Amino acid sequence: MTYDAIIIGGGHNGLVCACYLARAGRSVLVLERRDVIGGACVTEEPWPGFKVSTAAYVNSLFRPEIARELRLRDYGFELIPRNPSSFTPFLDGRYLMLGADRAGTLREIAKFSARDAQRYPEYEAMLERVAAIVEPTLDEAPPDLLHPSLRDIVKLLRLRRNVSSEAFEILTGAARPMLDRWFESEELKGTLATDAIIGAFAAPSMPGTAYVLFHHVMGETNGARGVWSYVRGGMGGLTKALAAAARDLGAEIRTNTEVERILTKDGRARGAAVANGDEFYGKQIASSADCNVTFLKMLDPTELPETFRGALERIDYSSASMKINLALECLPRFTSCHGERSRTTAAGPQHRGTIHFCPDQDFIERAYDDAKYGAPSNAPVVELTIPSALDETLAPPGKYVASMFVQYAPYKLKRGPWTKALRDEIADRCFAIVEQYATGFTSSVIHRQILAPPDLEASFKLTGGNIFQGAMSLGQLFAFRPLFGYAGYRTPLRGLFLCGAAAHPGGGVMGAAGRNAARVMLRS
Ligand SMILES: Cc1cc2nc3c(=O)[nH]c(=O)nc-3n(C[C@H](O)[C@H](O)[C@H](O)COP(=O)(O)OP(=O)(O)OC[C@H]3O[C@@H](n4cnc5c(N)ncnc54)[C@H](O)[C@@H]3O)c2cc1C
Repeated sequence: MTYDAIIIGGGHNGLVCACYLARAGRSVLVLERRDVIGGACVTEEPWPGFKVSTAAYVNSLFRPEIARELRLRDYGFELIPRNPSSFTPFLDGRYLMLGADRAGTLREIAKFSARDAQRYPEYEAMLERVAAIVEPTLDEAPPDLLHPSLRDIVKLLRLRRNVSSEAFEILTGAARPMLDRWFESEELKGTLATDAIIGAFAAPSMPGTAYVLFHHVMGETNGARGVWSYVRGGMGGLTKALAAAARDLGAEIRTNTEVERILTKDGRARGAAVANGDEFYGKQIASSADCNVTFLKMLDPTELPETFRGALERIDYSSASMKINLALECLPRFTSCHGERSRTTAAGPQHRGTIHFCPDQDFIERAYDDAKYGAPSNAPVVELTIPSALDETLAPPGKYVASMFVQYAPYKLKRGPWTKALRDEIADRCFAIVEQYATGFTSSVIHRQILAPPDLEASFKLTGGNIFQGAMSLGQLFAFRPLFGYAGYRTPLRGLFLCGAAAHPGGGVMGAAGRNAARVMLRS
């Protein structure tokens, strides 16, 4: 049988793409190498009774239109908004809590600076204005700057009309000077600046980080802008719903099926050869793996134009993010905030959002300094989340799951390989940081799963462990993602498309790449 489309990779973007193609009446086959679907948006049970979002852990970027159009709620997709969204304890006994409650947030900021509390609404309004420019670009292919069509020229003119100097700063600048201009309180700036470095191998003083910050405040939860949520059942709750929707629409999904080669004939992609020797044929092939995996591992590079091959090798996959998933005996008890415990969850507001351990921006800069020279940060930047504080389905009664997202642990180390001892040493450093603010935390850890960049690469086929399938720097965004001249989901090989985070609008659980790619495929 020849399918209308074969999708390589059953991450959320591959599944979104499959859904839209199947909905349009196309026969679709999804091939996923792992034994579970979901890619980096997945829930797994590493220890009996404890369900963790192995990689991605919070949502706000997923395009609400996709959830609506594919009726994902009917398939069990449910968002659990987090309010407050962040909690930052300090060693002097104070803390900062930010969230959707505007008045409460301003009161919290005013504890550190009355001027910053006054400025904060203006700062949010500025981000809104930039979002109004950037967001419409997420849901369509970027213009082709190499061979612009009339449609591309219209898109460019529209952008030129809207783009402002504040948007330009966000798209090209560094987070630190921007935050320094807006605010005076280091406590506030330290908390905001952590969003600027998530998944980026960069310090907040480096150009490009303002966009990473913006990328993390762009989304919404149930219509509330910038609110991050947990997905009930972990992030796999989304991909399970997508897989169920795809199957209902007629798509076929095979797990444990690794594509070894993209089959080609006469300069056109024709199918996929998988590890057990089977071959599947399709009129269109879409890969949701990154460019390195798609073009340099699954294809004979001689099938690609030389200039394209050269450009592929220049894609930046540098990475220094580490994920540590935990099972906890009890909730951390913060010295600065015991909080009132809610009767229903036993968790206080300090446990609901992202817990930052970052006193100021210099702390992040110093953490980056170590990594810049090829060593894991001596004092890493740690974000802790405890989804089971809001979702009781994730852990046995009275126990909790948590995860630490850690910057910076470089993929490429200057000295020696990534050993188990080094992984353990970094995890211990992170625990020691939390312990400073919540005595007893370390002894509350029952299990730990440490995923250093090489583990992210091995588990999810993310080259270099880069969580976004390629850095989200200006040179690799919009019309330049994945490569100048190839931002429209098409590739130099006829019949082969990209439909994952490697393509516009990039990393994050958005689904936009999958939907945009499906539209291009349906038009082709
Ligand atoms: C540790 C970590 C934390 C993150 N945190 C967040 C977060 O909290 N919120 C957020 O929005 N984003 C987060 N991200 C980013 C986000 O998870 C990814 O950008 C997004 O999930 C990418 O989805 P995708 O479908 O494009 O690709 P992927 O999820 O990478 O899916 C690609 C799929 O292709 C499969 N594949 C690869 N090669 C082959 C082959 N040869 N044959 C068959 N299958 C193949 C892979 O196994 C994988 O399942 C995080 C990422 C990581 C790694």
